[in-house]
This record gives sequence, structure tokens and C-alpha cells, in this order.
Amino acid sequence: MIPFLDLKGINAQYKAELIEACTRVVDSGWYIQGNECKEFDKEFAEYCGVKYAIGVANGLDALILILRAYKELDFMKDGDEVIVPSNTYIASILAISQNNFVPILVEPDINTYLIDPSKIEEKITSKTKAILPVHLYGQTCDMEKINEIAKKYNLKVIEDSAQSHGSYYKDKRSGNLGDASGFSFYPGKNLGALGDGGAVTTNDEELANTIKALGNYGSHKKYENLYKGVNSRLDEMQASMLRVKLRYLDNEIDKRREIANYYLKTIKNENIILPTLRAENNHVWHLFVIRTNKRDELQKYLLDKGIQTLIHYPIPPHKQNAYKEWNNEIYPVSEQIHNEVLSLPISGIQSFEDTKTIVKVLNEFR
Ligand SMILES: *Cc1c(COP(=O)(O)O)cnc(C)c1O
Repeated sequence: MIPFLDLKGINAQYKAELIEACTRVVDSGWYIQGNECKEFDKEFAEYCGVKYAIGVANGLDALILILRAYKELDFMKDGDEVIVPSNTYIASILAISQNNFVPILVEPDINTYLIDPSKIEEKITSKTKAILPVHLYGQTCDMEKINEIAKKYNLKVIEDSAQSHGSYYKDKRSGNLGDASGFSFYPGKNLGALGDGGAVTTNDEELANTIKALGNYGSHKKYENLYKGVNSRLDEMQASMLRVKLRYLDNEIDKRREIANYYLKTIKNENIILPTLRAENNHVWHLFVIRTNKRDELQKYLLDKGIQTLIHYPIPPHKQNAYKEWNNEIYPVSEQIHNEVLSLPISGIQSFEDTKTIVKVLNEFR
């Protein structure tokens, strides 16, 4: 069986260093907000090219806390609208709802699966306060156009970088392309912890300080509370694991690019649509997503041949029970994508043999 993602194998590459890091934390006697977190925040900020990174408990919290901070800073209030793609992982949308803001869905481009900037302006109202582009599957959105619209209407731009660690837009990295960005270190992400984790990146000092306080009971100073905050912190153990894996992230991305390039060059099947690159080198291939109108058939065929695939994602947000109020709305592009996409195995440890087998089997599908 060729697995979709072999997490055990991925972490086994760094086992000695991970155990060393783990031992360092155990021996330190300090497990929350200590040296590992401080160093990771510094190292991750540097990697992204931003002034500030703040470790938080997970990727959803990263997005929730950014929006919450804009509320505390009086830029936003309950009922304000936030523009978000209609095809994203539900967390991007939950972060908006949880703050009592209204998510406004905008359709993606059918080729890149990324929010279509030409459809944003028609959705802007006097209540719109932010755009939340998602660098879905690991490819950065058309940020120049998005930032231009944001500037024109005085909106904040909050990147969802949960799938795009290390990905570039022109000369800047994901996390440094808007006003603030949320990252996830869920184990299966390109930079994955061995548990939950997340981070916010920004160049805005006031926002960074607000988020830091909000995630620590609203406290900026021990036993003094500025806000009605929450407990959302990265812990020392996960920070130490992430410090090890961050050093190998660019290597992981390079290996994924090699596999993706091989797939792009050699998959030849008239039933299959390959992913479209917006630009050279802006894709870190968190997911390699093909499209076909025989999706369920193809998935079963591949499984019968010992190849495991996944669907990202099977149900569009507007069809979810959690968003019943949208169930009768129609987002044709998003619906088509959800019906047709299939994610192929890809990772830094996938063997060339396995990659070749996957291509051969795909090319024989009729
Ligand atoms: C994984 C993911 C999140 C949420 O991250 P968690 O760490 O699982 O909370 C948010 N947005 C997108 C696009 C994701 O893929």
C-alpha cells in the first residue's frame, strides 16, 4: 500500500534530534512560555521575513485571535463582514463566525482553486472590514490584487497560511503578504508539530502585543488583565519539536517540488486535470490536487491498486450542517471543485519508485 502520508516515517527522519529536544525540555523544568517558545517565535519570524511571530495553541486559534485583536483595537465590531473563499477548510470560516463577524463567501478561480480577486469588489459593503485569503493546497493567492482592493476600501488582509509555510509570492513569503497571518502546525501540515500548534505572524507591533496578551488570559503582565482573554499558547514541548523541523522545512519543500514536477510532466490522461501554477516557485505542494469528473471512480480504482488518496474537501462549507443558513445558496465553482478534486500522495519521504507507480497506474485509468 502506498499511503497518502506516512507521518511516522516523516518524523523518524529527525528522531534523534526530536528526542534530544524533548529531553532538553523535560530537564529544563519549565514547560509553558519559556525559552523554546521564545526562540521558536524568533526563528519562525525570521523564516517568514516578518518582525513578529506569536506561538498559539493551533491554527484555528491563530485566525480567531487575529480577528479578536482587531475588535479589541476598535477596528472591528460585531456584525462586521469578512470576505473569505467559498472553498476552504472550515476553520477559515469558523474563525470569522466565532468572533460574531459575518463570513462573506467569494468563489475561487476554477484553475488555481484560489479566491478570485475579480469577484471580491462586488461583495464589499459598508460593513466589510477584512479579506481572509487562503493559500489553499500550498499556493499563494494573487496578493497584489487583493492588497490593492484592501487598500482602496481600508480593509485588513488576514492570510490563512495553514497550508503554505515557506511559499513565496514574488520575493516575500507567506505570512508576510498581508496585515497578519495564521499558521497551523497540525501534524500533517508541511511544518507539523507532534501535537497541536499554531502561530500568528505580523509586522504590526500593536497587533502582536494584543494577540500575545489575548492568548494568555488577556494578560500582558502577570496578574494584570487588559482583556477578557483565552488560554491559547504553544507549549515548550511542541516549540522544541518545531524548532528541529523548521530547520528542514525548505528541504521538505524541495522534495515535494521534485515529486510535483514529476507528476506534472508525466501524468497524461484525458480524464485528469492537473493543478495550475500561478507562478514559478510559489507552490509548496502541501497537497497535490488533481481534478476529474470521475472522481469517486478514480479514487476506488487507485485504492484497488494499493494507492491511498484523500479528498480536500468532500463537502463545501455552504453545504455543511453547521452553516444551515447557507444550505440553499449556490456556489457553482466551489461545488464543482468539491465534486471533482482528489489529492495524490506527496511528501518529503515518498520514494521515486512509489511516485512512478502512482503515475503509471493513473495513466492507465480509463
Ligand atoms: C489546518 C487548517 C486550519 C486549522 O488549523 P488547526 O491547527 O488544525 O486548527 C485552518 N485553515 C486551513 C486552510 C487549514 O488547512
